[in-house]
Amino acid sequence: MPKKKDRSFTAKLAHETRTIHVEICKVCGKEKQPIVHVACAYGETGTWRPQRRRVKVCDCNRTEVYG
Ligand SMILES: [Zn+2]
Repeated sequence: MPKKKDRSFTAKLAHETRTIHVEICKVCGKEKQPIVHVACAYGETGTWRPQRRRVKVCDCNRTEVYG
């Protein structure tokens, strides 16, 4: 019964997305928002290379991330 298998797989996926979705910071008690932080970096040849970093932003590091 392939249909039954498909349904349970979708349910599992949905459950995982739901549980990962919100993360609360233990320090400030605010919701952490996952963002992609792009920083400027110059290589040895002087060419500009954007560096992408995945960070989670809450009140603790908000000023640090947004400058
Ligand atoms: Zn925090």
